[in-house]
Amino acid sequence: MKPIPTVCPLCNGQVKPGTTTFSLDLESGVIVVRQVPAHICRQCGEEWLDDEQAAKLEKIVARARHEKVQLEIVSMRESGRL
Ligand SMILES: [Zn+2]
Repeated sequence: MKPIPTVCPLCNGQVKPGTTTFSLDLESGVIVVRQVPAHICRQCGEEWLDDEQAAKLEKIVARARHEKVQLEIVSMRESGRL
């Protein structure tokens, strides 16, 4: 995994925990995942996900791809039971 820095390597801004919105254009449609816990640079907005969240995202995306959703908007907070 990419190590999560405390100081942004791009702009030297402070990296703080927060939430972000992840979206991906699948061939069959679009998936949007809201409230993804991430580490975000306060200055330039660069984002880092930890392994656990990245794995959860992968599962959500894999399921959406499998089900050929046209548009799905989910919240990471509510999909914790996956
Ligand atoms: Zn930055």
